[in-house]
Amino acid sequence: MTAVVAAAEKLIKPHGGRLVDRIGDRPEGVDKLERVTLTSREVSDLDMVACGALSPLEGFMGREQYERVLEDMRLANGLVWALPVCLAVEQAPSGDRVVLADKSERLLGVLEVEDVYDYDKEREAERCFRTTDEAHPGVARLYAQHPLYLAGSVTVFERVPPAYPELALDPAETRRTFAERGWKRVVGFQTRNPIHRAHEYLTKGALETVDGLLVHPLIGETKSDDVPAEVRIACYRVLLDNYYPPARVVLAAFPATMRYAGPREAIWHAICRKNYGCSHFIVGRDHAGVGTYYGTYDAQLIFDEFEAHELDIEPMFFEHAFWCRVCGQMATPKTCPHEDEDRVALSGTKVRELLSAGELPPAEFSRPEVAQVLIEAYSAE
Ligand SMILES: [Zn+2]
Repeated sequence: MTAVVAAAEKLIKPHGGRLVDRIGDRPEGVDKLERVTLTSREVSDLDMVACGALSPLEGFMGREQYERVLEDMRLANGLVWALPVCLAVEQAPSGDRVVLADKSERLLGVLEVEDVYDYDKEREAERCFRTTDEAHPGVARLYAQHPLYLAGSVTVFERVPPAYPELALDPAETRRTFAERGWKRVVGFQTRNPIHRAHEYLTKGALETVDGLLVHPLIGETKSDDVPAEVRIACYRVLLDNYYPPARVVLAAFPATMRYAGPREAIWHAICRKNYGCSHFIVGRDHAGVGTYYGTYDAQLIFDEFEAHELDIEPMFFEHAFWCRVCGQMATPKTCPHEDEDRVALSGTKVRELLSAGELPPAEFSRPEVAQVLIEAYSAE
């Protein structure tokens, strides 16, 4: 045990220095408190606060935090933070304590009311999403929210059962797992898509330089046209089982809801992974983007706005990867001098067409085991 504790000491520190733990006992009389019903995004944020994934946050943001995050991408104490974590309500509660419930009326936790304030949805959209267009899925959700933010620290006494219990690892648990394996340098990989050869190449390229890889797919709510989480998880499993050394990889679920905030979400994703114990984080092209709202490299360039020590976690920037027939291997424009026609490139639409028709894409594009899972999923639709 001592060796594991010593190994844990060598992992990156959580954001703000300490892993927050807001899980506690169910207070008496909690069912008599005024009830606030959370959206699925708010439930996900609540659970991430409780388990420390959003350290140093201990609850939903007050006005000062919120303003600083919008204007400077920092918390009130100056620590880097890129996205609001807020709870929207219809009206101010009458008491100084409320109970938080999900849509099925399950009671999850209590919030000590510290502040209730109004906010400007268009301004938040402009700052966070760089657009006020309601066709943007994150903006649309923001515009549909209640008009006030309710702030305060939370204590969660009932956690929502995870959709994939075997993949549910809290930050304290991923940290323990890394420490047990003796890892110090761990790279986190965020994904909300099946992993094809291109992303396999990025993850392995990153893994070559560190001790371990955390494959950390986002399994919270995504757009309805994204591949469903259960299909993606089946894809990750066959890929990891067949092509990655098990001693170097941990697969766990990232319980966040997708915001599609592009650059700011890339920072937010990196900070969350730091809390899970990752010292490095892969940032590809158009990370957390949607449509054409963000420039190809915006999610990489935004890291330049901070000093390296402020984030501590090191972003690893990658280009789009492909199979090059001349190089005879996976490569990117950084490492391959050949022409487009030498490269195996398929559009998302083309891949979907092939899979829907029950055809395997080229092995240079997708591992056949992964493609087979997708073919079965599409044929079941
Ligand atoms: Zn080449």
